[in-house]
Amino acid sequence: MDIALIGIGKIAVDQHVPAIAASTDFTLSAAVSRHGKVEGVEHFDDIDALLAARDDIRVVSLCLPPVPRFEVAAKALRAGRHVMLEKPPGATLAECYALERLARENGVSLFATWHSREADKVAVAKGWLADKHLTSLKVTWKEDVRRWHPGQAWIWEPGGMGVFDPGINALSIVTEILPHDIHLTDAHLLVPENCQTPIAAELTFAHPEGASVTADFDFRQEGEQIWSIEAVTSQGTLTLIDGGARIRIDGVDEALDDDNPLAGEYPRLYAKMADLLTRGAVDMDLRPMIHVCDALSLGRRTAVEPFIE
Ligand code: NAP
Repeated sequence: MDIALIGIGKIAVDQHVPAIAASTDFTLSAAVSRHGKVEGVEHFDDIDALLAARDDIRVVSLCLPPVPRFEVAAKALRAGRHVMLEKPPGATLAECYALERLARENGVSLFATWHSREADKVAVAKGWLADKHLTSLKVTWKEDVRRWHPGQAWIWEPGGMGVFDPGINALSIVTEILPHDIHLTDAHLLVPENCQTPIAAELTFAHPEGASVTADFDFRQEGEQIWSIEAVTSQGTLTLIDGGARIRIDGVDEALDDDNPLAGEYPRLYAKMADLLTRGAVDMDLRPMIHVCDALSLGRRTAVEPFIE
């Protein structure tokens, strides 16, 4: 199938272009971006030009930041194209519901992707936790925004989500591996004086069986970068390390399946998209996004020193 990539920035170049090149299901046939280009691929400046010129491209993959994403996704769905969304699936919940409605009305597939769920050890963690009694779960997601998001001013604007941009990846894993749904009860958000979105956040959740569930997100981390989830159960302790790339159970590291255990994330997303197309299905799991919206709604804000890149 021919596919178009829209929003040629960091993630499109780093992950989507190679994943499509390696896919047996898709051929990258067009790129839409105001500044970015993909060598050897037909270029369009905006979605309208793509939709008018290439009726043969029935699938589009959107790598824009969340705020500009809705309008582009809605145009594609109204034009009868199947749509794959980078995370988060939108800037607000209502627009995510609107996209789902549009997809169903137009009889096309829509996929809200969560790439971190595809990390090698996430499925192992889910299987291990399925029959355990959870006592506590602690997420620690601390990375250096200057290193991982250079020049991405949109992260600090309304809808950019700040530290929840990576934090939502942790929540996508938590909602995937826990057998029970949780809900947010408390949030403390640290917001730089010159920004609209938090640079750090501490979250507390209620668990139906009373387990303590917390998350600590921080964009100011220098030195060691930490993306870990520790689940303590009455039958042992599981730790997902490096964003789900590695797993430790009761202090013993499981062998890696792959030299690069995150390399499978995007190929697996495209394989899932191909499967949705075959089934004519929609996959819009909004649970990670609900937790972020709840934190932004319920959170106590503390102003902290300005963020200067
Ligand atoms: P990015 O490097 O800033 O690229 C986003 C692209 O979207 C830009 O190149 C820009 O291309 C286009 N765009 C169109 N309208 C825009 C607007 N109003 N403001 C800013 N850019 C606009 O961002 P990214 O890191 O690729 O992230 C894009 C999405 O992927 C985000 O939702 C992010 O959460 C997700 N993601 C990122 C990573 C990562 O490691 N960076 C990992 C996984 C997922 P033109 O200016 O040429 O149109």
